[in-house]
Amino acid sequence: MKLADLYARPELTLSVEFFPPKTDKGEENLFSEIEIIKRLNPAFCSVTYGAGGSTREKTVDLVDRIHRKCGLEVMCHLTVVGQSKDEARAVLRKLKEKGIENMIALGGDPPQGMVDWKPHPDGFHHAVELVREAVAFGGFSIAVAGFPEVHPRAESRASDLRYLKEKVDAGAVAIITQLFFDNEEYYRYVEDVRKLGIRLPIVPGVLPILSASQIRRFTSLCCAKIPAQLERELIKVENDDEAAVQLGIDYATRQCEGLIKFGVPGLHFYSLNKSYSVQAICKNLNL
Ligand SMILES: Cc1cc2nc3c(=O)[nH]c(=O)nc-3n(C[C@H](O)[C@H](O)[C@H](O)COP(=O)(O)OP(=O)(O)OC[C@H]3O[C@@H](n4cnc5c(N)ncnc54)[C@H](O)[C@@H]3O)c2cc1C
Repeated sequence: MKLADLYARPELTLSVEFFPPKTDKGEENLFSEIEIIKRLNPAFCSVTYGAGGSTREKTVDLVDRIHRKCGLEVMCHLTVVGQSKDEARAVLRKLKEKGIENMIALGGDPPQGMVDWKPHPDGFHHAVELVREAVAFGGFSIAVAGFPEVHPRAESRASDLRYLKEKVDAGAVAIITQLFFDNEEYYRYVEDVRKLGIRLPIVPGVLPILSASQIRRFTSLCCAKIPAQLERELIKVENDDEAAVQLGIDYATRQCEGLIKFGVPGLHFYSLNKSYSVQAICKNLNL
């Protein structure tokens, strides 16, 4: 089923994101986690594309396996960085051959820590070009990324919103947001996006915290704020990952309760390939 149809249903659209594991053992573990996630009856699962386009084959193969073997609807992440236009087109062709209809078109990030990194000379520069390319291919339902707290490289909030509008005008059907821990940031973003006349579903990306250090690393990379109250709670679990997981479940449950009350079209969980927290949050929410 296509993203556009999934989000047109009246019920909350639950989706869960995975990343391609580096090893065979990691992949085996992932499929065990997916079996647990499957019991939550998600509308679709998605698989990330490694930084700098580094997991091209793996991402497409994993998406295909989840689709065929697990019988789950899928969305493939595809980024423009680190590959030529022809390489990106080859991925679109492969997705089409495999019958994958849903994708999220992204700018992508350069590989972490690579100081002399340069964009591909024959690559697309921005996600909007990939949206246009996928629309021209035909048959894809395309999501794009949204940044409630503004993309770190954006010139301004206004320009970031303007470029979002370009992606929507190019044919995107849904916006999935970067993680955030303050729902007010999401509410303000929705208001600003609606002011531009954009009526698409704006799906909040929710990250259940798994450890204090990890959350500090993620938020510093994507420039999401840690609210003062969460910061106080994080300090208490600094060296206790088990307690951090429980904090993550409790915090995300409260966050999702607020978001559902607000009327979000769906929840997109950044699972980090772990089912435990997503399952616990959905249980708390009676989903
Ligand atoms: C739901 C979600 C899933 C993600 N999955 C992945 C993944 O699988 N792999 C991965 O590597 N990363 C992923 N990311 C991260 C994302 O790729 C990065 O944050 C990236 O830097 C921005 O992506 P974008 O699609 O918004 O890019 P773009 O839309 O290209 O925007 C990037 C920056 O350029 C600016 N901009 C956009 N268009 C123009 C233009 N025409 N002219 C000038 N400036 C412009 C924007 O304001 C923004 O600052 C994901 C993010 C989200 C929210």
